[in-house]
Amino acid sequence: MNQTKIFGVIGHPIGHSLSPVMHNAVFKEKNINAIYLPFDVDPSNLEYAIKGANALNFSGLNVTIPHKISVIKFLDEISDEAKLIGAVNVIKFDKKIFGYNTDGIGAIKAIEEKIGKIKDKKIFIFGAGGAARAIVFSLILNGAEVVMTNRTLEKIEILKREIYEKLNKEIEVVPLNNKIEEILKKCDVIINATSVGMFPNVNDSIIDENLIPEKKIVMDIVYTPLKTKFLKFAENKNCEIITGEKMLIYQAAEALKIWLNLSPSDVVEIMKNAIIQELKKKWK
Ligand code: NAP
Repeated sequence: MNQTKIFGVIGHPIGHSLSPVMHNAVFKEKNINAIYLPFDVDPSNLEYAIKGANALNFSGLNVTIPHKISVIKFLDEISDEAKLIGAVNVIKFDKKIFGYNTDGIGAIKAIEEKIGKIKDKKIFIFGAGGAARAIVFSLILNGAEVVMTNRTLEKIEILKREIYEKLNKEIEVVPLNNKIEEILKKCDVIINATSVGMFPNVNDSIIDENLIPEKKIVMDIVYTPLKTKFLKFAENKNCEIITGEKMLIYQAAEALKIWLNLSPSDVVEIMKNAIIQELKKKWK
């Protein structure tokens, strides 16, 4: 008998996750005998959760906040990219337990959908948290030039050293102040990879409208709401925008490639429709 494959996402809390909606839509549409469930796992139970899922023959798990780093010690092997980033968001249970990171490649696919190959493009990133780390390593691996800033600048200085040690590549680090406009003017793409503007702080933007240059490509990885204040400012400056659900969809599509060998081009539209419907119920 064709046994139902079990997938899921572990986090704490997990109620907000949009992953079940996206993955279950694909399983339904593609007639795949599989189910995807959210699991709230307290950090003290993380090891039991991974070993338990393995023992129960789960096929795969997504991993979200706060487990992306701490889960690594319970895995048998992790991919080179996950090693570089220092975090795992996809687990595949096979003969061994494998860890991957698809967040960075998800962001790259979202940008490339808009502008084509990012090689040699100059990309500006606000932020130095988990998401910003995944994005910067993937950008550099794909040949982009990166400029970064963060509220806590020391975090970026540490990241800059780490990138140099691991990849022998330099990123430019600039302070987050009113002089940023001149630097942004020289960049092709500007990304907010901080949590600024996320619900409930929907009136916040990482920078004021007057500092956003005209006619750039501007992306926000926050997806609640879909159109953040930062993206509204960018539209007022005649920029093209990339909303945060794009990265979410592409990282999920890459996970399905790892788990079931599905081609991202076959699942992205299904995920997009499912997620937009879900997000529109709550956010404009
Ligand atoms: P994180 O590790 O907690 O990092 C948060 C980042 O935001 C840090 O750089 C932090 O700066 C900055 N920040 C927070 N509050 C700020 C403020 N008031 N002013 C200026 N900077 C501020 O979080 P994360 O995992 O990187 O996630 C960041 C956001 O991305 C979240 O909203 C998350 O939902 C979203 N996300 C989206 C996707 C997607 O697929 N679209 C994937 C992952 C995450 P400091 O270092 O100074 O604290």
